[in-house]
Amino acid sequence: MAALADQPPFALRARLLSPLDGGATLDLADGLLEVDAEGRIVRIGPWPSAEPPPPAVDLRPLVVLPGLVDLHVHLPQIPNAGLGSGLDLLSWLDRYIFPLERAYDRSVADVQAPQAWRAFAAAGTTTVLAYAALWEESTDAAFAAAEAHGIRAVIGKVMMDRITYDTEIDPAQILETSLRQSDELASRWHGRDAGRLRYAFTPRFAVSCTFEMLRDSAALAAQHGAYWQTHLSEDAGEIDEVRRLFPGADDYLDVYDRAGALGPRSILAHAIHLSDREVARMVESDTRVAHCPASNLFLSSGMMPLGAYRTAGMTVGLGSDVAAGPDLSMLGVMRAGAVTQRVLELSARADPAAALRPIDWLRLGTLEGARALGMAGQVGSLEVGKEADLIAVDPRFTTPLPGDDPPADADDLASRLIFRPHPNMVRAAWVRGRLLAGPPGLDAIG
Ligand SMILES: [Zn+2]
Repeated sequence: MAALADQPPFALRARLLSPLDGGATLDLADGLLEVDAEGRIVRIGPWPSAEPPPPAVDLRPLVVLPGLVDLHVHLPQIPNAGLGSGLDLLSWLDRYIFPLERAYDRSVADVQAPQAWRAFAAAGTTTVLAYAALWEESTDAAFAAAEAHGIRAVIGKVMMDRITYDTEIDPAQILETSLRQSDELASRWHGRDAGRLRYAFTPRFAVSCTFEMLRDSAALAAQHGAYWQTHLSEDAGEIDEVRRLFPGADDYLDVYDRAGALGPRSILAHAIHLSDREVARMVESDTRVAHCPASNLFLSSGMMPLGAYRTAGMTVGLGSDVAAGPDLSMLGVMRAGAVTQRVLELSARADPAAALRPIDWLRLGTLEGARALGMAGQVGSLEVGKEADLIAVDPRFTTPLPGDDPPADADDLASRLIFRPHPNMVRAAWVRGRLLAGPPGLDAIG
C-alpha cells in the first residue's frame, strides 16, 4: 500500500461514508476524494474508471469518514479515565478529579497535552472542545501543544470563584484574576491559525461560580466572539445545590439565562434532567448541548430524553466527557448513547419508532457536533468546499471472524464501527489535509 499523504494537495481512493448537510448520506463503495493545496475538499465522486485515473493514494478497503467531533472533555482528567464508576458527581469530583486538576500545572501539561492530542487523533477525533484546569499557564501549554499537533481545538481555562481547588489565591481576588487570565488567553489564542484554534470561556458550573462570574464571563465571550461552555443539569444532587444557591432563579437553566449566557456560541454539557420550560428556552435561545451518554451512565447521572429534545429542535452533538466518560472514542460514546435510548424505549420513556439508526449516531458525532460549534460550513462532512478533516478507518478490524468482508450497506457498516470498534482501526486522521500524529498509519496492514 502506498505511503499516506501527509500534506495537501492529495487525492484518495477509498470507500467514502459521510452524512451530508441536506440530510442524506454519502456512500460510495469506490470513491475519489481530492484535497487542494489549501486543505479544502475540491472533488468527491465515484472512482472515474472511464477517464485516465488521477494520481491517488489507494486506501481500499479502508473507509474514509469525516473526523469525529468531541464537544466535551476535560484534559487534566484523562489519566483517571475509567476510575470511580457509580460514585455520584460531587463525591467523584472530590476523590478523583480535583486532585488531578490541581496538579495540572505547566510542567504536567507540557508532557500530557501533546499525548492527549495524539490520543484523540488515534481515536478518530479531529475537533475537540475541551476544559483545561484553573491555571492560565497550563491552558497556554495545552493550546501550544494543539497548535503544534494540528488538531482543531477549542479550549478554555476553568473558572471557579465559589468552590475552588486553588488554595493559594486570596478569595477577594479570584473573580478579577480569573476574568483577566481568561481574557488574556482569549486574546492570545482565539482564532489562531485561521480559526483552527479557538477560545471558550469556561465557568465550571453554577455550583462553583458566583452569578458575577457567570455574567462577566459571558460578557467577555461575547466581546471576543468566543464560545462559552459549562455544565447543566447533570445530577440530582447538583440540581438541588443550584436551587439552594440561586433561590431567585426559576430553574437551573434560568441561572445561566439571567447571566446573559445563552445563545448559539454557548455549549452546555449534559442537560439530561430538563423541565419542559428549560427545553423550550434552550431551543428558543439556540443554545447548544453536548450529550455525554457514556459519562451519564458511568456516574449514574441519568438518561437524556434525546428523541424529545431533537423533536423540540435542540441542537445536540456528542461529548466523551473524559474522565467521567471512560473512553476518548466517540464511537464508544455513540454505543453508550444507543444503549441508553434502547433502555428508554424498553421502559416506555421513548418512542421506538423514532429510534436513531447507527448512521444517525455517526451524524451526531460528526456533522451535528460541527453544527453545535457553528462550524458546519467548514467541517463535519465530506462535501466539496469544506476543509479536509478526515479519518481513514479499517473496517476489517470490526468483523467477528478474520477474513470476513465488511458490510456493503452503509447502516450496517456504521453499526459495526459503533458496536464492534477496535482501538487500532483508525489508521489515519487529517485536519485541513494535514496528517495528525497519533493513529498508527498503514504499516503492517497493507
Ligand atoms: Zn464535564
